[in-house]
Amino acid sequence: MNIIFLGAPGAGKGTQAEKVSETFKIPTISTGAIIREAIKTGTPMGTAAKQYTEKGDLVPDEVVIGIIKERLANDDCANGFILDGFPRTIPQAKALDEMGVKVDLALSIEVRDEVIVERMGGRRVCDKCGASYHTKYNPSKDGVTCDKDGTTLTLRKDDAPEVVKSRLETYHAQTEPIKEYYSACGKLKTVDGENDVAKITEAIIAVLNEIGR
Ligand code: AMP
Repeated sequence: MNIIFLGAPGAGKGTQAEKVSETFKIPTISTGAIIREAIKTGTPMGTAAKQYTEKGDLVPDEVVIGIIKERLANDDCANGFILDGFPRTIPQAKALDEMGVKVDLALSIEVRDEVIVERMGGRRVCDKCGASYHTKYNPSKDGVTCDKDGTTLTLRKDDAPEVVKSRLETYHAQTEPIKEYYSACGKLKTVDGENDVAKITEAIIAVLNEIGR
Protein backbone atom coordinates (compact mmCIF):
# COMPACT_ATOMS: atom_id res chain seq x y z
CA MET A 1 0.00 0.00 0.00
CA ASN A 2 1.31 3.44 -0.94
CA ILE A 3 0.27 5.98 1.66
CA ILE A 4 0.76 9.74 1.96
CA PHE A 5 0.63 11.39 5.37
CA LEU A 6 -0.61 14.97 5.20
CA GLY A 7 -0.85 17.49 8.00
CA ALA A 8 0.71 20.66 9.35
CA PRO A 9 4.29 20.57 10.62
CA GLY A 10 4.06 19.08 14.11
CA ALA A 11 0.74 17.32 13.45
CA GLY A 12 2.41 14.00 14.28
CA LYS A 13 3.11 12.64 10.79
CA GLY A 14 6.59 11.39 11.68
CA THR A 15 5.50 9.79 14.96
CA GLN A 16 2.54 8.05 13.38
CA ALA A 17 4.44 7.04 10.25
CA GLU A 18 6.99 5.28 12.44
CA LYS A 19 4.24 3.25 14.16
CA VAL A 20 2.44 2.38 10.93
CA SER A 21 5.78 1.39 9.33
CA GLU A 22 6.37 -1.12 12.14
CA THR A 23 2.84 -2.53 11.91
CA PHE A 24 2.68 -2.93 8.13
CA LYS A 25 6.42 -3.55 7.56
CA ILE A 26 6.76 -0.84 4.93
CA PRO A 27 9.36 1.96 4.95
CA THR A 28 8.65 5.57 5.80
CA ILE A 29 10.21 8.08 3.47
CA SER A 30 10.59 11.51 5.01
CA THR A 31 11.91 14.22 2.72
CA GLY A 32 12.56 16.36 5.83
CA ALA A 33 14.77 13.62 7.33
CA ILE A 34 16.64 13.10 4.03
CA ILE A 35 17.24 16.86 3.77
CA ARG A 36 18.40 17.13 7.43
CA GLU A 37 20.84 14.26 6.86
CA ALA A 38 22.19 15.95 3.70
CA ILE A 39 22.65 19.22 5.63
CA LYS A 40 24.46 17.38 8.41
CA THR A 41 26.87 15.64 6.06
CA GLY A 42 27.30 18.77 3.94
CA THR A 43 26.37 17.35 0.52
CA PRO A 44 25.76 19.89 -2.31
CA MET A 45 22.00 19.26 -2.00
CA GLY A 46 22.17 19.81 1.77
CA THR A 47 24.14 23.02 1.39
CA ALA A 48 21.61 24.34 -1.13
CA ALA A 49 18.61 23.28 1.00
CA LYS A 50 19.86 24.75 4.28
CA GLN A 51 18.93 28.36 3.47
CA TYR A 52 15.29 27.31 2.96
CA THR A 53 14.77 24.93 5.88
CA GLU A 54 16.33 27.30 8.43
CA LYS A 55 13.76 29.98 7.57
CA GLY A 56 10.88 27.51 7.50
CA ASP A 57 10.52 27.84 3.72
CA LEU A 58 9.95 24.96 1.33
CA VAL A 59 12.91 23.60 -0.61
CA PRO A 60 12.32 24.05 -4.39
CA ASP A 61 10.04 21.44 -5.97
CA GLU A 62 12.65 20.11 -8.41
CA VAL A 63 15.03 19.29 -5.54
CA VAL A 64 12.51 17.30 -3.46
CA ILE A 65 11.01 15.64 -6.53
CA GLY A 66 14.52 14.43 -7.40
CA ILE A 67 15.00 13.09 -3.85
CA ILE A 68 11.72 11.16 -4.00
CA LYS A 69 12.34 9.75 -7.49
CA GLU A 70 15.67 8.35 -6.39
CA ARG A 71 14.35 6.99 -3.08
CA LEU A 72 11.25 5.29 -4.51
CA ALA A 73 13.46 3.37 -6.95
CA ASN A 74 14.95 1.42 -4.00
CA ASP A 75 13.90 -2.23 -3.65
CA ASP A 76 12.48 -1.72 -0.15
CA CYS A 77 9.65 0.36 -1.66
CA ALA A 78 8.38 -2.50 -3.83
CA ASN A 79 5.66 -3.59 -1.37
CA GLY A 80 4.53 -0.11 -0.45
CA PHE A 81 5.70 2.90 1.51
CA ILE A 82 4.60 5.84 3.59
CA LEU A 83 5.48 9.34 2.43
CA ASP A 84 5.93 11.72 5.35
CA GLY A 85 6.26 15.34 4.24
CA PHE A 86 5.89 14.77 0.51
CA PRO A 87 4.05 16.03 -1.51
CA ARG A 88 3.88 19.50 -0.01
CA THR A 89 2.76 21.44 -3.09
CA ILE A 90 0.37 20.72 -5.98
CA PRO A 91 3.28 20.45 -8.49
CA GLN A 92 4.87 17.81 -6.21
CA ALA A 93 1.57 15.85 -6.10
CA LYS A 94 1.36 16.04 -9.89
CA ALA A 95 4.99 14.90 -10.21
CA LEU A 96 4.17 11.81 -8.15
CA ASP A 97 1.34 10.98 -10.56
CA GLU A 98 3.66 11.56 -13.50
CA MET A 99 6.18 9.10 -12.01
CA GLY A 100 3.40 6.50 -12.26
CA VAL A 101 3.12 6.13 -8.48
CA LYS A 102 -0.29 4.79 -7.48
CA VAL A 103 -1.46 6.52 -4.31
CA ASP A 104 -3.84 4.32 -2.29
CA LEU A 105 -4.51 6.79 0.46
CA ALA A 106 -3.78 10.38 1.46
CA LEU A 107 -4.31 10.54 5.18
CA SER A 108 -4.57 13.97 6.75
CA ILE A 109 -3.80 14.30 10.46
CA GLU A 110 -5.86 17.29 11.56
CA VAL A 111 -4.58 19.58 14.31
CA ARG A 112 -5.45 23.23 15.01
CA ASP A 113 -2.68 25.84 14.70
CA GLU A 114 -2.72 26.79 18.40
CA VAL A 115 -2.16 23.15 19.36
CA ILE A 116 0.69 22.90 16.83
CA VAL A 117 2.47 25.90 18.34
CA GLU A 118 2.32 24.33 21.81
CA ARG A 119 3.55 21.00 20.50
CA MET A 120 6.51 22.31 18.54
CA GLY A 121 8.03 23.91 21.63
CA GLY A 122 8.11 20.48 23.31
CA ARG A 123 9.31 18.44 20.35
CA ARG A 124 12.69 16.76 20.79
CA VAL A 125 14.48 14.78 18.13
CA CYS A 126 17.34 12.32 17.89
CA ASP A 127 19.96 13.72 15.50
CA LYS A 128 21.32 10.22 14.95
CA CYS A 129 18.25 8.12 14.01
CA GLY A 130 15.63 10.85 13.46
CA ALA A 131 13.20 9.53 16.12
CA SER A 132 10.83 12.19 17.42
CA TYR A 133 9.55 12.69 20.99
CA HIS A 134 7.63 15.28 22.98
CA THR A 135 8.54 16.39 26.49
CA LYS A 136 4.90 16.11 27.62
CA TYR A 137 2.92 13.95 25.17
CA ASN A 138 5.45 11.38 23.96
CA PRO A 139 8.56 11.51 26.18
CA SER A 140 11.49 9.12 25.76
CA LYS A 141 11.95 6.73 28.70
CA ASP A 142 14.37 9.00 30.58
CA GLY A 143 13.14 12.23 28.98
CA VAL A 144 16.67 13.18 27.86
CA THR A 145 18.07 10.55 25.48
CA CYS A 146 16.74 8.53 22.54
CA ASP A 147 15.18 5.15 23.49
CA LYS A 148 16.73 3.54 20.42
CA ASP A 149 20.35 4.63 20.54
CA GLY A 150 20.90 6.72 23.68
CA THR A 151 21.74 9.94 21.78
CA THR A 152 20.93 13.15 23.68
CA LEU A 153 17.71 14.62 22.25
CA THR A 154 17.70 18.16 20.85
CA LEU A 155 15.25 20.86 19.74
CA ARG A 156 15.09 21.23 15.96
CA LYS A 157 16.28 24.66 14.75
CA ASP A 158 13.13 25.07 12.68
CA ASP A 159 10.93 24.43 15.76
CA ALA A 160 11.84 27.89 17.11
CA PRO A 161 8.57 29.85 17.62
CA GLU A 162 9.10 32.46 14.86
CA VAL A 163 10.03 29.72 12.37
CA VAL A 164 6.98 27.66 13.38
CA LYS A 165 4.70 30.60 12.57
CA SER A 166 6.20 30.90 9.12
CA ARG A 167 5.98 27.12 8.54
CA LEU A 168 2.28 27.17 9.44
CA GLU A 169 1.66 30.01 6.97
CA THR A 170 3.48 28.05 4.28
CA TYR A 171 1.44 24.95 5.15
CA HIS A 172 -1.92 26.74 4.78
CA ALA A 173 -0.92 28.51 1.57
CA GLN A 174 0.93 25.74 -0.27
CA THR A 175 0.27 22.34 1.26
CA GLU A 176 -3.35 22.42 2.39
CA PRO A 177 -4.67 22.69 -1.21
CA ILE A 178 -3.32 19.16 -1.72
CA LYS A 179 -6.19 17.84 0.40
CA GLU A 180 -8.59 19.01 -2.30
CA TYR A 181 -6.38 17.38 -4.96
CA TYR A 182 -6.70 13.93 -3.31
CA SER A 183 -10.28 14.46 -2.21
CA ALA A 184 -11.27 15.00 -5.86
CA CYS A 185 -10.09 11.46 -6.70
CA GLY A 186 -11.60 9.89 -3.58
CA LYS A 187 -8.24 9.21 -1.91
CA LEU A 188 -8.47 11.56 1.08
CA LYS A 189 -9.26 10.43 4.63
CA THR A 190 -8.82 12.46 7.80
CA VAL A 191 -8.13 11.58 11.43
CA ASP A 192 -8.33 13.75 14.54
CA GLY A 193 -4.70 14.48 15.41
CA GLU A 194 -5.43 16.05 18.80
CA ASN A 195 -6.02 12.73 20.53
CA ASP A 196 -3.45 10.60 22.42
CA VAL A 197 -0.63 9.25 20.26
CA ALA A 198 -1.90 5.64 20.74
CA LYS A 199 -5.52 6.55 19.90
CA ILE A 200 -4.44 8.30 16.71
CA THR A 201 -2.41 5.23 15.71
CA GLU A 202 -5.50 3.06 16.31
CA ALA A 203 -7.64 5.36 14.15
CA ILE A 204 -5.05 5.32 11.34
CA ILE A 205 -4.72 1.53 11.42
CA ALA A 206 -8.52 1.22 11.30
CA VAL A 207 -8.58 3.40 8.16
CA LEU A 208 -5.79 1.34 6.57
CA ASN A 209 -7.50 -1.97 7.35
CA GLU A 210 -10.71 -0.62 5.84
CA ILE A 211 -8.92 0.45 2.64
CA GLY A 212 -6.99 -2.84 2.40
CA ARG A 213 -10.16 -4.92 2.47
P1 AMP B 1 9.73 18.21 7.92
O1 AMP B 1 10.67 17.39 8.73
O2 AMP B 1 8.84 17.36 7.06
O3 AMP B 1 8.96 19.21 8.74
O4 AMP B 1 10.64 19.05 6.88
C1 AMP B 1 11.61 19.99 7.34
C2 AMP B 1 11.91 20.99 6.25
O5 AMP B 1 12.44 20.34 5.09
C3 AMP B 1 10.71 21.78 5.73
O6 AMP B 1 10.40 22.89 6.53
C4 AMP B 1 11.19 22.19 4.33
O7 AMP B 1 12.11 23.26 4.40
C5 AMP B 1 11.96 20.95 3.90
N1 AMP B 1 11.06 19.99 3.20
C6 AMP B 1 10.72 18.73 3.61
N2 AMP B 1 9.89 18.13 2.74
C7 AMP B 1 9.68 19.04 1.75
C8 AMP B 1 8.90 19.05 0.55
N3 AMP B 1 8.15 17.99 0.19
N4 AMP B 1 8.93 20.16 -0.22
C9 AMP B 1 9.68 21.23 0.10
N5 AMP B 1 10.43 21.30 1.22
C10 AMP B 1 10.44 20.23 2.04
